[in-house]
Amino acid sequence: MPVARWMGLCNSHYYATRDPFGAGGDFTTAPEISQMFGELIGAWLTDVWRRAGSPDRVRLVELGPGRGTLMADMLRSMAAARWAPAVDFVETSPVLRAAQGDRVANARWHDSLDAVPDDAPLLLVANEFFDALPVRQFVRSAIGWHERIVAVGDAGFAAALGNAAATPLIPELLWNAPVGSVVETSLASTAIAAEIGARLSLHGGAALFIDYGHSGPVTGDTLQAVRGHAPADPFADPGEADLTAHVDFTALAAAAGTAASGPTGQGDFLRAIGIDARAETLRRRATAVQREAIDAAVARLTGETAMGRLFKVMALTGRDWPAPAGFA
Ligand code: SAH
Repeated sequence: MPVARWMGLCNSHYYATRDPFGAGGDFTTAPEISQMFGELIGAWLTDVWRRAGSPDRVRLVELGPGRGTLMADMLRSMAAARWAPAVDFVETSPVLRAAQGDRVANARWHDSLDAVPDDAPLLLVANEFFDALPVRQFVRSAIGWHERIVAVGDAGFAAALGNAAATPLIPELLWNAPVGSVVETSLASTAIAAEIGARLSLHGGAALFIDYGHSGPVTGDTLQAVRGHAPADPFADPGEADLTAHVDFTALAAAAGTAASGPTGQGDFLRAIGIDARAETLRRRATAVQREAIDAAVARLTGETAMGRLFKVMALTGRDWPAPAGFA
């Protein structure tokens, strides 16, 4: 089967059967590191919504909300600005839907963005969502481009090359990439970005994507598996490790077709929207031990060798909506 189908099947089993986050799980995400992350994103949305004239009705949507921590922290900072929008979650995992319900009361759940009513300005957040969506991979050989597939051999599942075939999915800039080059494309991701773009164009709004990735087109095999906070073989133990690939922000923006800001590094973005001031406020009411934890969280979220540069932030905005904060 193509790598994309493998990735989709493995991840749907993986997320359907566990809460993978935190020290006892497989990996830790930004909202699980500190409440500051969600609070700042809540303030970012409040700011752009206010400057758009505080429309009464909005659709506040999160794609792949994990434990619901990000939304709970966002709602708390929105409430401080006396704004309490209803929440639509797009989540397929029953285990994680339950966790989200524990943290966010009265949310509605949907299996896909298409199922969320398209009737008001869209305010959307997706943290480490697109990296979990399937990518197709193509490998350059001496005779052309081959889809990378997963095959069963004597030693179990392994990657192999399909037949060489002409495909419109290789960007023209990369047609003549050297033998051995890998090109990735995520149709699942660009389809969702196109849907977001259509909604932003119709009703206005803003969308924020945070993920690790690049501005394509680029070559490189970025498929990876993480299990117990360590790299794993993406073709062993299907559905028991988190499979991700880097996000191509250029492809998402192109599919959306709306105004895009960024991508910029997560560190620069969080500093621009006030993480240092927020940390200072929290520090004032904190014990010495808590102060150390706050400083460690800031370093982890913004540090150049931690998440600050690897993770990138991109915003899309609808027609007639103001430029969002946080982008130089
Ligand atoms: N945003 C959260 C979780 C990131 S993990 C955080 O930052 O902590 C990826 C999330 O996307 C999980 O909630 C997972 O169940 C969900 N997910 C993965 N594939 C999905 C799909 N195809 N449709 C909807 N949700 C999906």
